[in-house]
Amino acid sequence: MRYISTRGQAPELDFEAAMLTGLARDGGLYVPETVPAMRPAEIAALAGLSYEDAAFRVMRPFIGDCFSDDAFRAIIARAYAAFPHPARCPLVQIGPNDWVLELHHGPTLAFKDVAMQLIGQMFETVLARRGERVTIVGATSGDTGSAAIEAFRGLDAVDVVILYPHGRVSEVQRRQMTTPAEPNVHALAVEGTFDDCQALVKGMFNDFAFRDEVGLAAVNSINWARVLAQVVYYITAAVSLGAPHRAVSFSVPTGNFGDIFAGHIARRMGLPIETLVIATNENDILHRTLETGVYESRGVVATIAPSMDIQVSSNFERLLFELYGADGQAVATAMDELKSTGRFALPQGAREALRAGFASARVDRDEAMTTIARLHRETGIVLDPHTAIGVAAAGHARGDAAVPMVTLGTAHAAKFPDAVEQACGLRPALPARMADLYDRPERVTVVANDLAAVEALVRERRR
Ligand SMILES: *Cc1c(COP(=O)(O)O)cnc(C)c1O
Repeated sequence: MRYISTRGQAPELDFEAAMLTGLARDGGLYVPETVPAMRPAEIAALAGLSYEDAAFRVMRPFIGDCFSDDAFRAIIARAYAAFPHPARCPLVQIGPNDWVLELHHGPTLAFKDVAMQLIGQMFETVLARRGERVTIVGATSGDTGSAAIEAFRGLDAVDVVILYPHGRVSEVQRRQMTTPAEPNVHALAVEGTFDDCQALVKGMFNDFAFRDEVGLAAVNSINWARVLAQVVYYITAAVSLGAPHRAVSFSVPTGNFGDIFAGHIARRMGLPIETLVIATNENDILHRTLETGVYESRGVVATIAPSMDIQVSSNFERLLFELYGADGQAVATAMDELKSTGRFALPQGAREALRAGFASARVDRDEAMTTIARLHRETGIVLDPHTAIGVAAAGHARGDAAVPMVTLGTAHAAKFPDAVEQACGLRPALPARMADLYDRPERVTVVANDLAAVEALVRERRR
């Protein structure tokens, strides 16, 4: 399996190199040259398998000869041992034909763990084999950072440096990043927004001398291996609701477009998905793009769903590449226009293809809060604000009521206790395994929104 860049200028790589590299050297993102199909019988055969066995079958065609079957099975087993729930990603019914797919049973209580725990195990195996070390840098709006830290803390071959927007993540999110005591963990609070953090990470990657000097690797949602890990749960959820004999729809609380792009890949593999709903909060660039055909960045506003407070959705570039007929030059031109003018317009055909594949809804704070209250009243289930946005969006964008609608439950309510308590009067408790989070000492460095300053810190801190 070959991986190609969405901007058409970087070398083709195999799975291992694409995973280790993250961002392509032409500024693009790696995508598989072709998407392997699963026949309906192969999808049907996943029914009743464990999450791990299904994950092996779904991901195997994408990894080429990077791991032997036995090694890959062992990696998957170690990754999901960090999820105490035996189903790993259980489905919970919330309405007559409505479900939440709970993706928050991992160590940091958000769906990012599903991919990050797997990536941690894959990196460890690959780096040990190659005798190399890397410096992982990532930008986070809250959840990616803690998930990366949990996946890589204490590993010899890795330093993990996480940039997060100072003062713009929840206390639980911040503490999850600043309390691990391992010397290979470095949490940097940037005086800026998430988009600034993301631009700094891109800046480090585009500084090739620095990139090679410190052995940069990225595990942001731009890393293909993360998207791949997320494809699995769309398929397992749909199969348990009757796929491939029956279509299923998904509503996805969306920020960087990584999670929902995984759903798109599942559909391209052959999973019958009726609708993929892009659920956004007030930071609604993707919803506006569907409505107007213009992708236009505006200022970020802080919301009760901070992991979706994003105005440039980096993984959207992967979909653009498809919408532009795999024309890397056209993608590069659009991205240059975005950089210089803050916007670009989709050609008519691309806009129609986008609207054929996706629906969208924008859910504001009030509606998210009333959704949390309503679900709590009707079912006793306590949603976090991100998942509530997904549930509300599902209601707006729902087509055929006979098609099951699955909202991805992207975080545990205890990660955002203030908003949840305000919405439904109940303060969700942290699971016992992390009950002492508020007592652990924090370690953090505040840094200016300045590439040279951040690079100097990375040089100084990495071991
Ligand atoms: C990261 C995150 C999202 C958004 O996912 P993307 O892949 O960036 O679109 C939604 N909800 C939560 C809780 C998250 O952590």
